[in-house]
Amino acid sequence: MARKILAAGNWKMNKTPSEAAATIEAMKATCASDTVEVLLCVPAIDIPAAIEAAKGSNIQIGAENVYFEESGAYTGEISPDMLLDAGIKYVILGHSERREYFAETNETVNKKMIKCFEKGLVPIMCCGESLEQREQGITIDWIRQQVKVGFLGLTADQAKAAVIAYEPIWAIGTGKTATSDQAEEVCKAIRDLIRELYGDAVAEEIRILYGGSVKGSNAAELFGKEDIDGGLVGGASLKPDFGDIVNFK
Ligand code: PEP
Repeated sequence: MARKILAAGNWKMNKTPSEAAATIEAMKATCASDTVEVLLCVPAIDIPAAIEAAKGSNIQIGAENVYFEESGAYTGEISPDMLLDAGIKYVILGHSERREYFAETNETVNKKMIKCFEKGLVPIMCCGESLEQREQGITIDWIRQQVKVGFLGLTADQAKAAVIAYEPIWAIGTGKTATSDQAEEVCKAIRDLIRELYGDAVAEEIRILYGGSVKGSNAAELFGKEDIDGGLVGGASLKPDFGDIVNFK
């Protein structure tokens, strides 16, 4: 079964609810597609306005983070039930910015992965190396560790439904894209690891995205690689011309 390409935007801390609604209205035309799954992960406060604006289109709305507890004294956090009740299916976990600025670790990402599946959310788990790690030649070891710990305790059925986003930190928001061969090398290594952990069927079904300065001009080459099933897109998902990535040629 061919894996469906996923074009996922990550809006980070950008756009107010009214800006989000206006942008999505404009994206309805540019991001229409019968073949590519289109997702915008938006700030939590934008979710209701974004879902309302996306009605009647193929654009799905996702979240950028979730907490691993059910409810209670966790000021400022958002629970899985809150996202589900708002109509969310996909949630980004372990983005490198959350690891760097908000002390996320492989272990907290794993707790969130487990909770997401327990509740029925689909995680998009991010992994990626720094420039220093790439130069030290430890990229694949590092990524394997991130994915192994992130997936600890997940069943094969859960693993195959998850999405992994390989995002080299040096390529995020820098305009510096990994070459399609560099991206493919790591995405293939991730699929090989999933094969080791869960077998062929899961490895063939799980979607692995590339993220890091994806734009209309490089999407076709990246998404054309055997082990790259779409992109996680920051800056270029903030404008209607995100459609150039969705409708990559
Ligand atoms: C990201 O935020 O996940 C990302 C890849 O950003 P950008 O596309 O701007 O590099």
